[in-house]
Amino acid sequence: MYYYSLNGNAGKVDFRQAAISGQAPDKGLYFPEQIPKLPAGFISSLRQISPDEIALTVISPYVGDTISKHELADIVHETIDFDFPLVQISDSVFALELFHGPTLAFKDVGARFMSRCISHFVNDFSSPITVLVATSGDTGGAVASGFYGVEGVNVVILYPSGKVSDVQERQLTGLGKNITALEILGTFDDCQRMVKTAFADEDIAKKRFLTSANSINVARWLPQQFYYFFAARVWTLSRFFPVFCVPSGNFGNICAGILAHKSGLPAAHFIAACNANSVVPDFLRTGIYSPRKALTTVSNAMDVGDPSNFIRVLELFHRNFNSLKEILSSESISEADTLSTIKTVFETTGYVLDPHGAVGYRALGNWLRKNPGHAGIFLETAHPVKFFDVVEPLIGKKISRPPSIEELMLSKKQGLVINPDFGQLKDFLLS
Ligand SMILES: *Cc1c(COP(=O)(O)O)cnc(C)c1O
Repeated sequence: MYYYSLNGNAGKVDFRQAAISGQAPDKGLYFPEQIPKLPAGFISSLRQISPDEIALTVISPYVGDTISKHELADIVHETIDFDFPLVQISDSVFALELFHGPTLAFKDVGARFMSRCISHFVNDFSSPITVLVATSGDTGGAVASGFYGVEGVNVVILYPSGKVSDVQERQLTGLGKNITALEILGTFDDCQRMVKTAFADEDIAKKRFLTSANSINVARWLPQQFYYFFAARVWTLSRFFPVFCVPSGNFGNICAGILAHKSGLPAAHFIAACNANSVVPDFLRTGIYSPRKALTTVSNAMDVGDPSNFIRVLELFHRNFNSLKEILSSESISEADTLSTIKTVFETTGYVLDPHGAVGYRALGNWLRKNPGHAGIFLETAHPVKFFDVVEPLIGKKISRPPSIEELMLSKKQGLVINPDFGQLKDFLLS
């Protein structure tokens, strides 16, 4: 399998090169040259196939011969080494819980897969590589956990001081070893700017092999297809295919779902559930794509004003607006509706939603009301305990802490505090 740049000004590369470089030299996103078709027998017998084998079958064509079958099987096994339960909430609504990994958010799957692939590829390098990433919260923790203890890889994470939650900060700063957290006395935009400047710096390029771990990397994007097949595997309402509703920010997750569908995943429809950041819902209504500054909401991992993966969704439909609209709907859910959904769903069903899942639940319910005769799955992308300060007052009780959180709360904060000044970052990277 080869990957081309969506900016059209760079050569084709294999999976190894795409995963190591993250972005094409022309700054475009990499996109697979073909979309594999899964055999009909595979789809009809999903129920009898193990999750490991499903994941291996789905990802193999994308990896090609850059990793041996045997090693890829090990990588996949470690990547999905936790549960992905499908929980029924009502007659027609199910939650696909993606928060049972080490950092309690769905990004663990992409980050674990990517870190293991990079670690496999760095065996060929004589010097260590540095993964540099800016985070507004969830990405940093998943990347840190994914690369923790991996030989030959140093991870440097920049996060804005005072702007991530307590749990998120501990996930960044509690590990040590090959993970360094840099607390930047500035905003997330400052962190991103410093990272971008570092990638463009020639002195650094001469002395360090830098790579990025952000969500456009194909090694983070493609394994997200697994969730959808795992859900289809245990879907019991055989009279219809499920509608998938995905809480969306950068649109990597839902794009992976639609890619899976193009390969054969049974699905009736896709809904991108957005918070107040409504660029895509507005686009589907008007046909005009107008990116803007992100608004701050309680579902902060979806506070994105210019979703970086949306261009991949367009590419999947050969940029044809009408065929896109047949399979994809999108709705923006207000802050008030998000909060009232958490409260009402708990009171009527006992299920505790996190703010991102609440946006998904609400958008799915609205769609099912307008399209009777369907049933659907919303992706519950984070554990509610990550947002206990929002959720607990609404449900009027404490959320039980999973054991991994108890341990985290005992961890010591490690890391450096620096100004939002590129010179300081450069000194650190070259030291
Ligand atoms: C990152 C994230 C999202 C958004 O996923 P995208 O792939 O960026 O659309 C949704 N929910 C949670 C909890 C996240 O961390």
